[in-house]
Amino acid sequence: MKTIKDLDVKGKRVLVRVDFNVPRKGETITDDNRIVSALPTIKYLLEKGAAVILFSHLGKIKHKLSAEEVDVAKKKNNMVSIAKRLGELLGADKVSFSPDSSGPSAQKFVQMLQPGEVLLLQNTRYEKGEEKNDEALSKEWASYADAYVMDAFGSAHRAHASTYGVPAVLKAEGKDVAVGFLVEKEIEALSRCVDVTAENRPYVAILGGFKVSDKIKVIDALLKKCDKILIGGAMAYTFQKALGYEVGVSPVEVDQLDYAKRCFTEANGRIVLPIDSVYTDKFEGWTIKEVSPDANIPVGFEGMDIGPKTRQLFVKELAGAKMVFWNGPMGVFEQADFAEGTKAVAQAIVELPGVFSVIGGGDSAAAAAQFGFKDQFSHVSTGGGASLEMIENDGHLPGIDIIKE
Ligand code: ADP
Ligand code: MG
Repeated sequence: MKTIKDLDVKGKRVLVRVDFNVPRKGETITDDNRIVSALPTIKYLLEKGAAVILFSHLGKIKHKLSAEEVDVAKKKNNMVSIAKRLGELLGADKVSFSPDSSGPSAQKFVQMLQPGEVLLLQNTRYEKGEEKNDEALSKEWASYADAYVMDAFGSAHRAHASTYGVPAVLKAEGKDVAVGFLVEKEIEALSRCVDVTAENRPYVAILGGFKVSDKIKVIDALLKKCDKILIGGAMAYTFQKALGYEVGVSPVEVDQLDYAKRCFTEANGRIVLPIDSVYTDKFEGWTIKEVSPDANIPVGFEGMDIGPKTRQLFVKELAGAKMVFWNGPMGVFEQADFAEGTKAVAQAIVELPGVFSVIGGGDSAAAAAQFGFKDQFSHVSTGGGASLEMIENDGHLPGIDIIKE
């Protein structure tokens, strides 16, 4: 696979798919980490004399909705605030912004772009054809560039026009396609979690968080690779329920109960579940907060975190691990009352001697940062869904595979 170091970009227009889908409150960017993370690739291309065209999605725009609703979504997810931040980071004189994502006005910005300058196109999802991997749209975007760089790991699991169609068109035309520094680093780290070697064992995966239906499929794949899977967070209740425990009003994925039971049985003791929970009467503003004596949560109550016995159990199960993949917090860590489980696990991971530790999940990364452990992990992936899918698909992601020769 080519990386940007293999490209000759002097005087050329290079189209870079970045992941600028940053968290925002209104117009304000609350965490610009994704923009900052893209800078090495952008700066490298500028230094080598390229004219750099950036494009990314931002938020969600559902084109099935009414024209008014689409307009509202477009306004909310206008890329202009991102362009402003990018200008602050790179120098405002270097950065221009195309308010359109395609068409004559965008083409004009592309034509005016000089080597050493950066152009950010409007949100790719302004286009109906983006998520459909539309051919005409892919060809239009491909026509802007002499080469394409994939540096949006968080979008690599999607075969959209900007992540798949465009490099496919350029490749067919004999033009260069490559991965950027960010994606190169992600592949390097996550490949270790996929192609597991003896020195990476024991290999322990920790799963948690809320998005059960998205994640539960990965368990099959992980069971083939890992020595052990520790399950906490909301996902655990589906397993507990499947095994016949009472879980009260804790979130359960009813249509995954059979799957959970099968996984647990087939895992033959390699799936480790909570043995106690911190439960409450109310998700926010609780009046009762208790620790269950075992894996049962009383009727009417909701599990919010793994309990102290489970913390001890998970720390014990982690001992000696040489590689850890962690996705999903152990509890509702955003509330201090239910953060202990996540904190204990994060701390236990970073204290393992000689461990290769990977976080693949936005909220898990936020939790690790909140507790001050983030910098001590070997790798913090920028793509939660993408990192899970990479493991699930044995190292394959559409947006990466298309770059490969
Ligand atoms: P990640 O972003 O790391 O992939 P998710 O997005 O799947 O993780 O899940 C993160 C969310 O899961 C957090 O907001 C957290 O509050 C929530 N969560 C964890 N445990 C529970 C629980 N027991 N009940 C409800 N929500 C939970
Ligand atoms: Mg999340």
